[in-house]
Amino acid sequence: MSTMNTPGAGQVHVVDHPLVQHKLTLMRQKDRSTNSFRRLLGEISMLMAYEVTRDMPTQMIEIETPLETMLSPVIEGRKTVFVVIMRAGSGFLDGMLQVVPGARVGHIGLYRDPKTLVAVEYYFKMPGDMHERDAIVLDPMLATGNSAAAAVERLKETRPRSIRFVSLLAAPEGLKHFHEAHPDVPVYTAAIDRQLNDHGYIVPGLGDAGDRMFGTK
Ligand code: URA
Repeated sequence: MSTMNTPGAGQVHVVDHPLVQHKLTLMRQKDRSTNSFRRLLGEISMLMAYEVTRDMPTQMIEIETPLETMLSPVIEGRKTVFVVIMRAGSGFLDGMLQVVPGARVGHIGLYRDPKTLVAVEYYFKMPGDMHERDAIVLDPMLATGNSAAAAVERLKETRPRSIRFVSLLAAPEGLKHFHEAHPDVPVYTAAIDRQLNDHGYIVPGLGDAGDRMFGTK
């Protein structure tokens, strides 16, 4: 994993593990089937979960091995909340939950008002006691950064203990915008692509992540 700073702002961790990069290359291919795209996203999300949880808090519990009693560390899984930005964020969830099965899950639904281009919330549901939880926000595409920044702003109202943002692909423009709003939130991504196009798509990118994972195009 390599770590850098968005100019003047927050941290970006690029998960450059060969397995992640290999799977991402397959996902980018335009003829990849929905089934295969979804499976690869699940596999990448497990590998990314491994990196994003690297410094997760643990607690010592007493266990008995066949030979003696010992104190041994376990992850405070119940203190983690995965926050899915609907709808594409849900593609990241299964893999993350396989690695951290005790985590709770929150959802944020936002749409962009076509007239004002402002992100409007239509759904928001988090577990209780957010101030005790570490939030890991999931959205595969950090494109303009508008909805990511709005989602994190809303999430901050619940005062989680910490926030991290995980994307599969990020655009430089989106990273800059996101970190101008939230320099305190580190971003984990598998790649930073060249730019956004005029339609707000990441290029070279992989197209519409939601359509590709759900086969809705
Ligand atoms: N959302 C997507 O699904 N793809 C992009 O390239 C940008 C935003």
